[in-house]
Amino acid sequence: MPEGSHRFTVGAIRCTVLADGYAANPAPWVFPNAGAQELERAIASRRLPRGEVIIPYTCLLIESGREAVLVDTGAGAAGTTSGAIRARLEMAGLRPRDVDTVVLTHCHPDHIGGTVSACGRPAFPEARYVLAEAEAEFWLGPHRALDGLRLPDEVKRTMHRTSRDCLAALRFHLEPIDRECQIAPGLRAIPAPGHTPGHLALLIESEGQRLLNIGDAAVHPLHLEQPEWENGFDLEAGTALRTRRDLLDRAVRERMHVMAFHFPFPSVGRVAPRAEGGWCWTPGW
Ligand SMILES: [Zn+2]
Repeated sequence: MPEGSHRFTVGAIRCTVLADGYAANPAPWVFPNAGAQELERAIASRRLPRGEVIIPYTCLLIESGREAVLVDTGAGAAGTTSGAIRARLEMAGLRPRDVDTVVLTHCHPDHIGGTVSACGRPAFPEARYVLAEAEAEFWLGPHRALDGLRLPDEVKRTMHRTSRDCLAALRFHLEPIDRECQIAPGLRAIPAPGHTPGHLALLIESEGQRLLNIGDAAVHPLHLEQPEWENGFDLEAGTALRTRRDLLDRAVRERMHVMAFHFPFPSVGRVAPRAEGGWCWTPGW
């Protein structure tokens, strides 16, 4: 596979993770309630850059039988360091019209931005776009619903505008769901609220193998090691922490691989409980 793509199989289902790009976010956006010294120590011990946290965007292509499903679409043309998903799909052998289903774990711009082309049309013209009904309703509602986020106002305004505009462009192609359900053979959507009201996790299962895509229930491996560290993009932090714990406990209990959209590429790996609390992350499939 070309650089930025990694292919593996979950039973009979072919999965490919595709890098769309990345963002460099100020550390307080990613870890708003972490103690300053603890955070400094954690960042220094991993030799990560200070001040900014690199947040990759990794989409998941699922090819199950005759169906091609793309989970999340990256940020589209909005940023200079993202928007590679279309080229990566073509390198994987798929044209935009070959994508049958797009699943949005939620409607933040880094997940929905790639659904719309530069001229404002659905980027995957033959696809149905599946998302939670509560998610669509939330982003089509008023901007002040984002007031509680610990982010600059300009970031919140841009987020709301991008999400609303993408949903408007997709309005005849949306398939909202309102509960846990099967989306395609071997693919289930699981409500995972907190990060956003209609945030979804996805379970891919075939021949006894399982992959749990947790979306943005954790956006950095430090969110596993420090399960009380919140994410500044979580709309309801308490609910988000409970959801994170439920998903990771389930992954451990049921011996699943895990995918997290913002974890370092290839963004798939395994979790194991740590004696001191939280979970450790081992990348790879
Ligand atoms: Zn995200």
